Amino acid sequence: MSKIKIAELFYSIQGEGRYMGVPSVFLRTFGCNFTCDGFGMNRGEKSNERNVIAINAETYKQYGDLPLVSTGCDSYASWDPRFKHLSPVLSTDSIADAITDTLPYKEWRYEHLVITGGEPLLGWQRAYPDLLDHPKMQGLKEITFETNGTQKLTPEFKEYLENWKLKDSKSWCESITFSVSAKLPCSGEKWEDAICPDVVREYEDIGYTYLKFVVATEQDVADAECAIGAFRNAGFQGSIYLMPVGGVESVYTLNNRRVAELAMEKGLRYSDRLQVPLFKNEWGT
Ligand code: SF4
Repeated sequence: MSKIKIAELFYSIQGEGRYMGVPSVFLRTFGCNFTCDGFGMNRGEKSNERNVIAINAETYKQYGDLPLVSTGCDSYASWDPRFKHLSPVLSTDSIADAITDTLPYKEWRYEHLVITGGEPLLGWQRAYPDLLDHPKMQGLKEITFETNGTQKLTPEFKEYLENWKLKDSKSWCESITFSVSAKLPCSGEKWEDAICPDVVREYEDIGYTYLKFVVATEQDVADAECAIGAFRNAGFQGSIYLMPVGGVESVYTLNNRRVAELAMEKGLRYSDRLQVPLFKNEWGT
């Protein structure tokens, strides 16, 4: 039986992208290949807010007690090794049990599963088939992988997903989604590491794939347009969203209207972050 290190597992409303408003179980895996220390900072500066929190990391016993941050990655505890004691390694059996327990009717009906992170397409790809084949997961019809778009699918996992989507042939084209939040320079990550058009193009062979760029300024939008050109040149055909920076409400409300206006100007889609106005972006939402 496979095991996965789980940062969070909760039931909420999807706040972003094409499934905005849909009741969803979020499975947040531990580990990421990035740190995204640039969010909310001036260009070239890195957030030290996370480091301040990390001084007392050992004193936190559960995710719900962790502070929210206005700069850097808002899900920092899902990959920062100083918080790894909060994320148990669980068997796929116990994950399937825990998922079922969060569902309102204790079985899958119209809810969708979001596998997020951290970066969920790191080594856990080899464990997902065990989880998705579990008897308690058989009513599940729709999955989104929320990824930063840098990790290739392994040939084994690609083949598995091809077969998984075919099990419900009426809606196969809708059943698997890749929500790709490709990181722009405002994240603090390097362009050559973060913008991987060939990787994302391949996701389109398996499921509905869209790009979601987190932006705050016109410079960020210009960077997004440059990245869009690279993705389109590689043959990417999916939808493209702009989404405001804002892990806390004060930052989100500064950005959201302007980002919506910029999305309209550029003919791009706008994604809200409903979890911020609805739930203050608290852990577990
Ligand atoms: S890729 Fe996502 S989870 Fe990883 S550090 Fe960046 S924002 Fe956080």
